[in-house]
Amino acid sequence: MKPKTPSGLPVSREEIRPIYPVHGLPASQELALKTRPAHGLHVLITGGAGFIGSNLAEYHLHKGDKVHVVDDLSTGALSNVEAFLSHPHFRFSQADILVWDDLNKAVTWADRIYHMAAVVGVHKVLAEPIHCLSTNIAGCERVLRAASANGWKPQIVIPSTAEVYGEAHTSGGALPSEAVDFTGFREDAELVVGSTAIKRWNYPVSKITNEAMGLSYGQAFGMEVLVARLFNSVGPRQTGRYGMVLPRFVKQAVAGEPITVYGDGTQTRSFCDVRDTVALLDALASELGNAGEIINVGNNREISIHALARLVKELAQSASPIAFVPYRVAYGEGNVETYRRKPDLTKLLAHTAYRHQWTLEATVQDLIERERANMEDARLVAWRPDDARVFQECMVS
Ligand code: UDP
Repeated sequence: MKPKTPSGLPVSREEIRPIYPVHGLPASQELALKTRPAHGLHVLITGGAGFIGSNLAEYHLHKGDKVHVVDDLSTGALSNVEAFLSHPHFRFSQADILVWDDLNKAVTWADRIYHMAAVVGVHKVLAEPIHCLSTNIAGCERVLRAASANGWKPQIVIPSTAEVYGEAHTSGGALPSEAVDFTGFREDAELVVGSTAIKRWNYPVSKITNEAMGLSYGQAFGMEVLVARLFNSVGPRQTGRYGMVLPRFVKQAVAGEPITVYGDGTQTRSFCDVRDTVALLDALASELGNAGEIINVGNNREISIHALARLVKELAQSASPIAFVPYRVAYGEGNVETYRRKPDLTKLLAHTAYRHQWTLEATVQDLIERERANMEDARLVAWRPDDARVFQECMVS
């Protein structure tokens, strides 16, 4: 009988290449012989049932690679990977990365690891500050340690975040000046985060630690480690539950509810479609020369949050009012707002030939259509017998 996940869904088939032995040699010699294939890469994605992780899984399956996702489903959702469970090249393990028994086997199997397992999202980070630090720091080290422990060294992509740019352009640091032409955060900038007494900084502190750890393990053990500083990815499967702005605006606009702009809406962000994000990560990791680099990954088109609300409202042809909510009401105490967040992409564009395929308008339009389809599905599922009778009567008349 196939094993079941707690939700009763079958775990995918074990048709991924058996781990070892491959050539019938002792494991230590097998590892020495192992080489990274050009096609049919073995991809391990920790946190692969989350937003970016599940898009990475989809991307690599589509490319013909084999994908193993491990996720404890704390912020990720089984529904994000449900469509892949029956794929012969997909495997899912529900486990906490801090205690996962099969980690050593999985990293030995992997040609590439995307370590996406992390506590993210402003609301979640403020609500669970210790969980954020322990999962993000100890989880990352556990993966690096396992990967460094034997002869075969998989590539490792460590996702970092624009949040590491810290206090620059925040309400706690230097405020933006309209007169200053902001070309974006550069990878070689000094990183200055705020006081550790403010919970909000736990997230960038954890990610700066991940960066330093990843690069140090890479140097010490001769591993290919790439640090990607991700800037506001948006797209399918992103949930607004933990505060992310675009899925919230789309849901509100489609439902005809007020679109909640925090602050006065003049703060800006630069949004990158997740389908570009994952293609960029793959393109960067595929270039051997990028190992040991820290590279911004995102899109550099800047838009104010008020303008984003107007764009969503317009494309959804929604009658929703735009409501301004004070930051204090939105986040409570302990938050520090970043007024401008834009990547300098000079390094990214020099390190890969991939170019963005998605405009913000196309992404927003796509998300509106998906939200409408979801609402329609939910409406059908919510049918009661009474509804069926009404429907029959409609058909008759
Ligand atoms: N935001 C907003 N309304 C919401 C959720 C978020 O105006 O319902 C704002 C938030 O204050 C921030 C921006 O949108 O200025 C982006 O928020 P998000 O949490 O998506 O990303 P981050 O702040 O981490 O860049």
